[in-house]
Amino acid sequence: MPFFSCHLLFPTECRDEFRRLMTEAAKYEKKVMVLDFVTPTPQGSSWGLGGTCVNVGCIPKKLMHQAALLGQALQDSRKFGWQFTEEVKHNWMTMTESVQNYIGSLNWGYRVALRDKKVTYENAYGEFVGPHTIKATNKKGIEKLYTAERFIIATGERPRYLGIPGDKEYCVSSDDLFSLPYCPGKTLVVGASYVALECAGFLAGLGLDVTVMVRSILLRGFDQDMANRIGEYMKEHGVNFIREFVPIKVEQVEEGTPGILKVTAKSTAGDQMIEGEYNTVLLAIGRDPCTRKIGLDKVKVNINEKTGKIPVNDEEQTNVPYIYAIGDILQDKLELTPVAIQAGRLLVQRLYAGATTKCDYVNVPTTVFTPLEYGACGYSEETAVEKFGEENIEVYHSHFWPLEWTVPSRDNNKCYAKIICNIQDNERVIGFHVLGPNAGEVTQGFATAIKCGLTKEQLDSTVGIHPVCAEVCIQNHLKAHGILG
Ligand code: NAP
Repeated sequence: MPFFSCHLLFPTECRDEFRRLMTEAAKYEKKVMVLDFVTPTPQGSSWGLGGTCVNVGCIPKKLMHQAALLGQALQDSRKFGWQFTEEVKHNWMTMTESVQNYIGSLNWGYRVALRDKKVTYENAYGEFVGPHTIKATNKKGIEKLYTAERFIIATGERPRYLGIPGDKEYCVSSDDLFSLPYCPGKTLVVGASYVALECAGFLAGLGLDVTVMVRSILLRGFDQDMANRIGEYMKEHGVNFIREFVPIKVEQVEEGTPGILKVTAKSTAGDQMIEGEYNTVLLAIGRDPCTRKIGLDKVKVNINEKTGKIPVNDEEQTNVPYIYAIGDILQDKLELTPVAIQAGRLLVQRLYAGATTKCDYVNVPTTVFTPLEYGACGYSEETAVEKFGEENIEVYHSHFWPLEWTVPSRDNNKCYAKIICNIQDNERVIGFHVLGPNAGEVTQGFATAIKCGLTKEQLDSTVGIHPVCAEVCIQNHLKAHGILG
């Protein structure tokens, strides 16, 4: 087995942060190497360099969400004078090909960037075999050993399966959906969080018959008022919801692309059983960290036995001082690509450039790209009440109707903004929530203001840009709870 040595080695299955991080480390003239390997899904899908976000996450998801929004825009356009006589149809293959071509260009760009920075790249699976030593196994089964001064683990997570008959044989996950070589047809989405609702939303927006099977609540961990509004909007826009049921069996009725699958589900509230036939069953029931098969036991890195997550200190260091971890595999941290990128960049600057800044995991904004987009930063109403007490928070809110939606007369007053303020702290904004078009664009700017200590008074003294959606958050448009006009 050949033996190599370097300063920093990144075993990674599929994360985008490793690329940015390595190029950051290479900047400090360190000898850097990355091991990157994608284990194919049970359906055989695999992808290139760049991790979940680029290949099977944020990027294809947002592009397919855009495909759905364009369908809505086409409908709206008639009221704006556009005339088209032909029937409007969507072609799944054209969309996936275009999206995959773009992803291919990103994969290539990353490869070139690594080469430019003189980062050694190995498309091989990394597994610790002893102190400072890792084994890399490539697709052909050829093994090599590497040593490094330090290691950063950024192996990310992969979709979980239900563990019921037929799940791995017949169901797909988000790892398969974005490159599915046929239109999924009538789809059952199992799960009710980010991935589930975003995928259900764009599939329905493309005109497919979509049902979401919800075990308990929508978007656990998010502001439930906002989550329920998202659910209502999706329902009004044709998504079916089956509440308080979980699948117990998936059987193939007919082969094909897509074929027909029969799903048997059981009530979580009683003994009731139901059956339904779908062309595709998409499992979006959460993701498991890729930490159990990378030899962490060999180097004695602690993991949470139950979740597989890795606890680290506030410098992203594991209990083994020369091994660090970033991204979705961290215990009690956020599962978001930009957070991992920030953590990695700061870590490398601390390790090699004498910097001291640590990653700030507080007030991180995020957006759920459901048909009605949801942007959030800071506390949900529930957690704010829990942390500060109901008497110490004030909630300001307002419905709004984007100007662009008025002419086609759709969804009057379905958009909604809400801020949560800490009365004891000069009405500082501790929670920001907005449901509406371009919610991510809106939230990004307010997130900076919140990081700077934004107060309600400052929001009210900010002059608006007219006529935009974000205007609802400023100049006294938001009213205290209970006096909504
Ligand atoms: P998740 O947040 O862990 O949610 C899992 C969902 O599946 C929950 O609704 C859960 O229901 C349900 N579920 C779990 N086990 C089930 C079972 N056996 N049967 C039926 N339903 C079951 O998972 P995720 O949506 O995959 O998201 C993973 C992470 O990716 C998130 O933490 C998020 O940070 C990140 N992400 C971010 C974005 C973005 O930034 N826009 C987009 C996608 C994902 P219960 O509530 O009943 O447990």
